[in-house]
Amino acid sequence: RAKAEGRNTFRYYVPGMNEAITRRARLERDLHAALGSAGGLVMHYQPILRGADGALCGFEALMRWRHPELGLVAPSHFIPLAEETGQIVALGAFALHEACRAAARWPGDLRVAVNVSAIQLRQPGLEQTVVAALAGARLPAARLEIEITESVLVEDDPASLSCLQRLKALGVRIALDDFGTGYSSLSYLRRFPFDRIKIDRSFIRDIADADTAAIVGAIVGMAAHFGATVTAEGVETQDQFEAVRARACTEVQGYLFGRPVPAREVDDLIRRQAPRPAGQAAA
Ligand code: C2E
Ligand code: MG
Ligand code: MG
Ligand code: MG
Repeated sequence: RAKAEGRNTFRYYVPGMNEAITRRARLERDLHAALGSAGGLVMHYQPILRGADGALCGFEALMRWRHPELGLVAPSHFIPLAEETGQIVALGAFALHEACRAAARWPGDLRVAVNVSAIQLRQPGLEQTVVAALAGARLPAARLEIEITESVLVEDDPASLSCLQRLKALGVRIALDDFGTGYSSLSYLRRFPFDRIKIDRSFIRDIADADTAAIVGAIVGMAAHFGATVTAEGVETQDQFEAVRARACTEVQGYLFGRPVPAREVDDLIRRQAPRPAGQAAA
């Protein structure tokens, strides 16, 4: 008992600790406010192109938080916080509704990909949220793709997997994001029939390395066996683009082709998109 108290007292006096707690509480409170106000949270969209000819296939929706005083807060800061506080459920619903509404304005062959956290999948209600977002926007289910990370599979939660099954039965596509970064990636592929595998950008960054290139080629071959297509994430240079194309990655995404932009700039991108000969997909 005394020992426990001693620990608490000690922890109480760790310099910087209160600051960290205060900062966290503030971010949590401000995130709550942003959810309730217009403009605080916005979705940006990054183009995804077909590797073979650079044709536009769709966009990934990525959340942005414009904090009134701190400015733009990166998802790597506020998504983990929102996952801890449970706010990710409301954030995720916002992302789905916004993304479906945006995609409904695009030409019918373009899809939108939305990131869904393992926490969202574990809560009941994701399926209803997806159905409501599609219906509200009058977007066909086949034009929506959900991106999940390996953490969903690591937990092996039956409710999460059956939710994914039901979404897939609706016609929603399911992608495995950041592939190759977790543990035992290969065995997890047996747990769910993914429509798409997104190769993590760390592999694309190092693709000049022969071993890394061989791994990318192997992922593509394996994905073909599972009937999944492959997107190379984080393509930044023409050399990386050539390398992933040589390994038959179906689709490409990265700063070389375009950064995430607000919804209104997407309309310009779509208008500018004209058929281009292979090899000239760079923006
Ligand atoms: P992600 O789903 O893997 O998204 C790709 C990230 O890579 C995005 O970062 C994107 O801006 C960045 N990126 C794209 N192309 C390049 C490139 O060529 N080079 C480099 N260096 N980076 C590139 P962002 O927008 O900061 O998002 C980070 C992560 O936050 C996302 O990774 C995703 O896991 C999470 N996230 C973002 N929006 C949402 C959301 O609405 N819901 C959930 N649950 N998570 C989200
Ligand atoms: Mg993603
Ligand atoms: Mg990713
Ligand atoms: Mg990621």
